[in-house]
Amino acid sequence: MAILVCGGAGYIGSHTVHQLAAKGESVVIVDNLATGHRAALHPAAKFYEGDIRDSFVLDRIFTENQIEAVIHFAANSLVGESMENPLKYFNNNVGGMQTLLEAMVRHHVDKIVFSSTAAVYGEPKRVPIREEDETNPTNAYGETKRTMEKLMKWVSRANGIRYVSLRYFNAAGALDDGSIGEDHSPETHLIPLILQVPLQKRAAITIFGNDYATPDGTCVRDYIHVLDLADAHVRALEYLRQGGASDIFNLGNGKGFSVKEMIVAAEKATGKSIAVQTGARRAGDPAQLIASSEKARRVLGWQPQYIDVERIIRTAWSWHKSHPDGYTD
Ligand code: UDP
Repeated sequence: MAILVCGGAGYIGSHTVHQLAAKGESVVIVDNLATGHRAALHPAAKFYEGDIRDSFVLDRIFTENQIEAVIHFAANSLVGESMENPLKYFNNNVGGMQTLLEAMVRHHVDKIVFSSTAAVYGEPKRVPIREEDETNPTNAYGETKRTMEKLMKWVSRANGIRYVSLRYFNAAGALDDGSIGEDHSPETHLIPLILQVPLQKRAAITIFGNDYATPDGTCVRDYIHVLDLADAHVRALEYLRQGGASDIFNLGNGKGFSVKEMIVAAEKATGKSIAVQTGARRAGDPAQLIASSEKARRVLGWQPQYIDVERIIRTAWSWHKSHPDGYTD
């Protein structure tokens, strides 16, 4: 039996495939390579280039392979783009989930681990955020991910599919050897953008607002290493194999770092000074997002290994330094 990883050529998907393969799992990947990279594909995985909105592609995959469970990363994930083009996000993210669940029902595949996001919460009423807290997304991206969770909820009740939804906070870092890493186009995430300064691809990092109600006025986020996220997917799969009920888990370190603190940590991680300028706030940015991951620790036995942000940034640095232009394929 194999695990189907939808979006296995993307950032978190490729790191999860790496962990699955290291554990001896047989992996099938489907990815349309719209944002994923051929060079990020694991050599041991069987690859289908295709779109999960195409039910013929899914039928072929489920017929040609014995799929035990699905891990689903295939979605668009840029907040700004989702505000400019919400229909693209509803079509790809929600539409993709619908076609995927229909195929799972047709082919009697009953387990799915889903890549969700802290963006489902919107502006938190309290931190750390817990899974039972209100969800009120402030951007279309978060709304699509929340809607995808709801699709799974109703399908699980009607069709016996069990799911785990993993709500990540700020994914960061790369495989320690720097062989795979983060490459978005356009890049919007803080750590890769900070590292473009010592790479001399950017003159300075712009801090988006220094007048937030936080200790140093800049936004606070909970940065969690991509391999710790990958490990949570492997554990969630095991949890479902053991008969675990459908559930939702936050994934973060439970510790917040401000934008200014991240820049200082990046200076230490790279040994280079990083020029900074202050700009306006970015629309839709909550002041603070910090996870309570107590439930994932308790139920999944998950324990993040990368708890030091400087170490997290060092892994990102080894990827970006060796791939200054990202993937070439
Ligand atoms: N940020 C920033 N400058 C940048 C990019 C991001 O100050 O060039 C801030 C952003 O406002 C947020 C934090 O860094 O508070 C993390 O942003 P990112 O886009 O990495 O993740 P998000 O929190 O949006 O998921």
